[in-house]
Amino acid sequence: MGLTNCTNCGGFDEPLQMESPEDLKQLLWQIYDMLRYGMFRYLGGTLGVNPMDTLVRKWGDRIDFKVGCTVCCREYRLEAETQSGAGGRWEAIS
Ligand SMILES: [Zn+2]
Repeated sequence: MGLTNCTNCGGFDEPLQMESPEDLKQLLWQIYDMLRYGMFRYLGGTLGVNPMDTLVRKWGDRIDFKVGCTVCCREYRLEAETQSGAGGRWEAIS
């Protein structure tokens, strides 16, 4: 059982420490799908004005963005240094 009972974002509510670029990539694809299906809303950050494009094409050296659940409005943040290949951190911030 996670921190929230929300059926929309319930699978994302545990903090995640990503240890490798593969972990990070996997999470980014999951977020991509959530955005695509309108289950997450992009709330701003380094993905710029076209977050979907940025997620599949070019992340930049640093990723730091927020998304929100469109059902319960809980907010999440992803922070990662892609250059160092050290992965990153995902967590609920509200
Ligand atoms: Zn939710």
